[in-house]
Amino acid sequence: MPTISITIENDAGVERELKLPGHYEVCSGCEGEGKHVNPSVDEHGITAEEFAEDPDFLEAYFSGVYDVECHTCHGKRVVPQLDRDQLRMHRSGARLLARIEAAERANAEVDRIVFTSQATGTHSLDIPSSTGERVWAHLAGFIANQPNRRSAA
Ligand SMILES: [Zn+2]
Repeated sequence: MPTISITIENDAGVERELKLPGHYEVCSGCEGEGKHVNPSVDEHGITAEEFAEDPDFLEAYFSGVYDVECHTCHGKRVVPQLDRDQLRMHRSGARLLARIEAAERANAEVDRIVFTSQATGTHSLDIPSSTGERVWAHLAGFIANQPNRRSAA
């Protein structure tokens, strides 16, 4: 299972990295095909008229001639994602997840989960600095709680 590396930056600009449980989900960039039409060919959309005027282009387009390796999953068909269910199973994990999801809602930009390394299955989640301080503080508590929770079990 992949490890999801979440990087938090607080208002003071201090970064902190936390490794969280991940799992693989079907890539939304290629819907699991591992490839898609080269965006330089169709990123601006192709009209029915264009296809009608050039049947050879239509045929080539759907034959996969213009396909390139998926830019999101690099042909792996799946992408590592934070395993939210696993986090929810623990009280401290659920609190952490609530913070992450609040930050996600606060800034839709966070949806741009940046893949820093496909090979190791890690990615960074940028949490906006307006909420970063609280998230950071909570993460510190999350880490600190781990040994206590295990010894109590
Ligand atoms: Zn893909």
